[in-house]
Amino acid sequence: MKIGVFALQGAFAEHVRMLHDLGAEAFEIHSLSDWEKEKDGIILPGGESTTQVKLLHDLGIFEPLKNEIRNGLPVFGTCAGMILLAQNTTNDDREHLATMGISVRRNAYGRQLGSFHTFGTMEGIGEDIPMTFIRAPYIEKVLSPECEVLAKIDGNIVAARQGKQLVTAFHPELDADFRVHEYFLKMCR
Ligand code: GLN
Repeated sequence: MKIGVFALQGAFAEHVRMLHDLGAEAFEIHSLSDWEKEKDGIILPGGESTTQVKLLHDLGIFEPLKNEIRNGLPVFGTCAGMILLAQNTTNDDREHLATMGISVRRNAYGRQLGSFHTFGTMEGIGEDIPMTFIRAPYIEKVLSPECEVLAKIDGNIVAARQGKQLVTAFHPELDADFRVHEYFLKMCR
């Protein structure tokens, strides 16, 4: 199985390492030619969504990426990656990929509580999953009936799935628990 990990900016190396550990063939996407390689799925990592959107446009990847996701290419977005996939961002009006029917709040935990670690249950994945939040967003509202909530922390939605799109507000690649990535690899089969 081949998974392309966007490596324009942000926390991509940990995703690549985790996928390798799980026996998948992971490669980094730095350019349009990397993007055009054969793949079974992609990961949009955490980082700075503003910068990531700009780089995707500059490299000419934004439109093809959006189309491939619409056509069913499996995608896993963590943190900033989740912001990129959201149809709506309540406190940000720049254009995103908008392929997933969720409304997201950026930096939803404010500056003080921006980063924290907890454990939670994910529907269809398991219990006691470590969750590292870094200046994280959360999902304020599910807009599509096809979108399924997978996890909530303190009443806020922090993970969801819609068809072949998976998003987490937290960073599973930063903890030593492989279950979320394993789940994504199953989605790519
Ligand atoms: N706060 C960042 C943003 O809005 C996301 C943070 C992250 O990906 N860790 O883009």
